[in-house]
Amino acid sequence: MPKNYFKSYPNEKGFYESYGGAFIPPVLEKEMEKITEAYFSISKSHNFISELRSIRKHYQGRPTPVYFCNRLSNKYGGRIYLKREDLNHTGAHKLNHCMGEALLAKHLGKKKLIAETGAGQHGVALATAAAYFGLECEIHMGEVDMAKEHPNVVRMEILGAKVIPVSEGLKTLKEAVDSAFNAYLEDPVSSLYCIGSVVGPHPFPMMVRDFQRVVGIEAKEQFFEMTGELPDKVVACVGGGSNAMGIFSAFLEDDECEIYGVEPSGRSLDPGEHAATMTLGKPGVIHGFKCYLLQDENGDPAPVYSVASGLDYPGVGPEHSMLKDLKKVQYDTINDKEAIDAFYELSRLEGIIPALESAHAVAYAIKLAQQNPQKSIFVNLSGRGDKDIDYVVDTYGLPE
Ligand SMILES: *Cc1c(COP(=O)(O)O)cnc(C)c1O
Repeated sequence: MPKNYFKSYPNEKGFYESYGGAFIPPVLEKEMEKITEAYFSISKSHNFISELRSIRKHYQGRPTPVYFCNRLSNKYGGRIYLKREDLNHTGAHKLNHCMGEALLAKHLGKKKLIAETGAGQHGVALATAAAYFGLECEIHMGEVDMAKEHPNVVRMEILGAKVIPVSEGLKTLKEAVDSAFNAYLEDPVSSLYCIGSVVGPHPFPMMVRDFQRVVGIEAKEQFFEMTGELPDKVVACVGGGSNAMGIFSAFLEDDECEIYGVEPSGRSLDPGEHAATMTLGKPGVIHGFKCYLLQDENGDPAPVYSVASGLDYPGVGPEHSMLKDLKKVQYDTINDKEAIDAFYELSRLEGIIPALESAHAVAYAIKLAQQNPQKSIFVNLSGRGDKDIDYVVDTYGLPE
């Protein structure tokens, strides 16, 4: 890794080696340039930094704790630690970038925030940020996800957001992004598109990563304070990759830490049954940026599936795509069944109900612990599982 990692990536055009960039129509290109410029000048200002710091502390409840899983570690070996992003206000890491994006919108004089949502977590986080800043909020969501994640739809509406159902295609995250993008194109002057992960055209992958870096900065310091060491292994689930970039970013320059990104292999590795982008994808363009992409015969984004709505996206952040090629991060998969088992294990051994997305990272940590009984394993627990409880119990039942 170059010593100056964050100065080197992305480059001026938003590329992480060959990935990223901005493959978008000229009108939008102008808007993205304006956002990039504003981001560089505003986000470095004393006002912006101190306002965001204050919000994180007094409103979000940061720093979130780091927790050692005593019973889980005793059962499986290793020493498993969690960074508790489930305790961040709204129950997931997503508020970290939403408050940053909304604060930027406020500084830009925008009136409205527009976004897509998969599991509903990004929508709830953004609706929360919009309420905090007194901005309008419009959330596009696939109809399949709306049915599956109904409580989050209600939450967004209570928070004052307008939820737009998307009925195209598979009616999940990819179609919701298309729909939100089109809505933003209609009114780029008074609205800001707030993407939900480290994806999309430059500068979004960089902005979202930078707003999520707080997770890694806190986590590294807290882990060191608890143990006097760096973790041997760092694990996070990867949908678009924002919670993973948040924690990974603090350890990229530490060659002794092994870093693992976990993708969903869903029901199987057959086409349409998973969202294992890194494992089976090839470089391609989706939503205005280049990345590893699951593609059909025509090179279009392929249908994807995971039990965790937040992970079923056929693309992945450009920075992850680069980190895979550089072999700095190892990407591997966990299937639905393993994730469900881990969901119940963490609930019953530690009293923590994880989001199904985060359960993928926990399942992988359990595997690593069994193979490496002497090692410390640090998991980013990206969110809590309250949103998933009805679906899990109705579909899989309770364990013995
Ligand atoms: C949205 C979500 C994810 C996936 O998004 P990333 O950008 O990959 O982090 C993971 N966990 C939870 C709890 C989520 O809500």
